[in-house]
Amino acid sequence: MASAAAPVRTDQAYQKCLAPDCGATYDVGQVLTACPKCGSLLDVLYDWNRTPPPESLRWFEQKWSRRNEPLCRSGVWRFHELLPFATPDKIVTIGEGQTPLHASDGVARYVGMKAGSLFLQYEGMNPSGSFKDNGMTAAFTHARTIGARRAACASTGNTSASLALYCCASKLMQAVIFIGSGKISYGKLSQALDYGALTIQIAGDFDDAMLRVQEVSKQLGIYLVNSVNPFRLEGQKTIMYRVLESLDWQTPDWIVVPGGNLGNSSAFGKAFHELHELGLIDRVPRLAVINAAGANTLDGLYNKHNLRWNCGQIDSRTIARYYAEMESAGRKADTIASAIEINRPVNLTKCLRALDWCDGLVREVTDQQILDAKAQVGANGFGCEPASAASVAGAKLLREEDVIAPSERVVCILTGHQLKDPTATVSYHTTDQDEFNRVLGKRGVSRAAFANRAVKVENDLDEIVRAIQLNS
Ligand SMILES: *Cc1c(COP(=O)(O)O)cnc(C)c1O
Ligand SMILES: [Zn+2]
Repeated sequence: MASAAAPVRTDQAYQKCLAPDCGATYDVGQVLTACPKCGSLLDVLYDWNRTPPPESLRWFEQKWSRRNEPLCRSGVWRFHELLPFATPDKIVTIGEGQTPLHASDGVARYVGMKAGSLFLQYEGMNPSGSFKDNGMTAAFTHARTIGARRAACASTGNTSASLALYCCASKLMQAVIFIGSGKISYGKLSQALDYGALTIQIAGDFDDAMLRVQEVSKQLGIYLVNSVNPFRLEGQKTIMYRVLESLDWQTPDWIVVPGGNLGNSSAFGKAFHELHELGLIDRVPRLAVINAAGANTLDGLYNKHNLRWNCGQIDSRTIARYYAEMESAGRKADTIASAIEINRPVNLTKCLRALDWCDGLVREVTDQQILDAKAQVGANGFGCEPASAASVAGAKLLREEDVIAPSERVVCILTGHQLKDPTATVSYHTTDQDEFNRVLGKRGVSRAAFANRAVKVENDLDEIVRAIQLNS
């Protein structure tokens, strides 16, 4: 990419506007959520000539024997050399990213893959129960380096839970969380409340909360950790480093990830692009980003309007027209997968770049497909929340289309833990048709193919014994 201005930097890290025809650079000490010159998103970049990266990814294996050191134990910071924007003394870690990759032959069978070909990267096992901790540790570290005392976000739930946890565990900052009325799942809200975050509930929806948090942060000088924060994405790159680590540093064929605000897909693309440029991997995987059909802005723009990265010359008029149509038709995102229930994904342009870098593609899956996939993930021992199962449902769809071959190596990202949203799970397995309809039926879900229904029985020993014998 051509650079219009010479990099300004404190050390080796700097921020750079992603628009090639702007390319303005900024110090990492500046708190920015967009390029002040042109409004585009920013990247965190590094001058690798100043501090060369390790010559081989195997170099990181030496850290495995130093697990008693917090920065080696953290699944994010043991890769510090690949995201060196902060000095080690400023890093805030609570043991995030200790999440392994699992092969699941049960899920492989469901998806239509050969045994040994399908892997689940279980990010629900993070301290706050979602992948968001990978990004939060990085943004929080940046907030600390610039001396922030308060940090804020609006979120569909998991970002709030993560921010609240980092604040209360570190005692370094106060968390201020903006939520709309309704929608947020109790699992996620309960975390924010329990962790002591100042929780501002706005009489409005998520989009209203998002606008307000930006205004308020500006006025009160509060550090904003929402999805446009480029430092978060640096932390999220490490999810891919761990995938590579688990595969003995071999690149898989596919990474399949749910798409909401598109931070993860953007970060994954950057991770592979950088590793490839540095000569640390010899090929990049293909990237599949999966929308919920009820929140399918990326799918609509990418597949129906053919929107592409196009060397950074993104057709912004197509985006504007699409959003205007959404607005005038009163179309609002609606899916059981609340973590990806997003109308206007803030990292859209970065995601288009990631799709370009990784020969990617986009698909949408229905709530029915999501919940059936989620039940199969659960039945094979990996509980996840609905949004996460979009990855497995998407892999199944791509297998059916024969885009993915049965013996290719496919990694599906399970973004959040099952206990985040028990309502969705219980409603799927319920025997109560009214409850099923109230939660799922209104979203077009008509059947629970893999429901494990409670057996109702009188409080009577013989009846109970008979029920067990009949059902086992
Ligand atoms: C935030 C979130 C997503 C969406 O990720 P993006 O980076 O916004 O695309 C998906 N699943 C879960 C569980 C999440 O919390
Ligand atoms: Zn710019």
